[in-house]
Parts: sequence; C-alpha cells; structure tokens
Amino acid sequence: MSDPASDCKYCGGDCPNQPEGSEHLCDGYAGDIDGLYGDTQSLLEAAAEKARALSATSTEVQEIMLVMLDAWRLYFLAHESLVPCIEECSEEDTERDMIRKIVVESMRETATKPFTTDDLIDGLTARCVAFIQEHAAPEGEGEDADPV
Ligand SMILES: [Zn+2]
Repeated sequence: MSDPASDCKYCGGDCPNQPEGSEHLCDGYAGDIDGLYGDTQSLLEAAAEKARALSATSTEVQEIMLVMLDAWRLYFLAHESLVPCIEECSEEDTERDMIRKIVVESMRETATKPFTTDDLIDGLTARCVAFIQEHAAPEGEGEDADPV
C-alpha cells in the first residue's frame, strides 16, 4: 500500500514514514538538503513579523481589527446572556449544552446568509446598543448599583 502523498520528495521512497534517524533514510531526506520539507518555524516567525508590521503600519487594518474586537465583545456579551435563559428551560447539563450549540449553530448559519447594510446598521444602532446598555455593567457600577 503506497500513499503517493507521503512518498519521499527526494528519492520517491518511504523516507517520511521511517522513524527519525532511521538508517533507511536517503541522504536528501535526512538532511533536507534542498529545503523541500521547509522550515516551519522560520515560516511562522516571518508570518508573525509581517502580521505585526501590518497592524502597526496600516490604519485600515487597525480599524478592521477594532471592529473585529467590538464584534467579538458583543458576541461574548450576548452569549453570556443566553446561558441563564437556557438554564431556565432545561435542568440537565448535557441537554443544556446541546440547546446552546443548536442556538449558536442556527445563528451562525443565518449570519453567513446575505444581508443588507441597512439591516446591519439598524441592528447595531437600535438592538445592539440597547442590549449593551442593559446587560453590560459599566466599570465602578457593578453589583453594588441599585437596580432601576
Ligand atoms: Zn528519500
């Protein structure tokens, strides 16, 4: 049973499936003399460096990242508020978890469907702002604040 994808890029043999340091490795594979298997670590470092430079120099990217940050915070805030609602409709942990996943999955699916800019703006300005004001405890007015 030969898997072409795992054939050695140097000799066409079985080198990638041999244990490290095996005497059956061809010289090409053993030393990766032409870099065919790449240096993943240096690739990762180069990518991280470019990502840093991208966010440091582009105001467009900075703005995009801040929008992503707001969107994530809003998502987590909404998700946190969903949990007690689910607890009211089920007393069983496994079922609660299933209900949560079904709700989240159905929203994720809806989110990937087409929408209009107006829909989003209406949702953000009316629904989301009101939701944040109602659910987020501003710093310094936590549990001690009197409920209105
Ligand atoms: Zn080989």
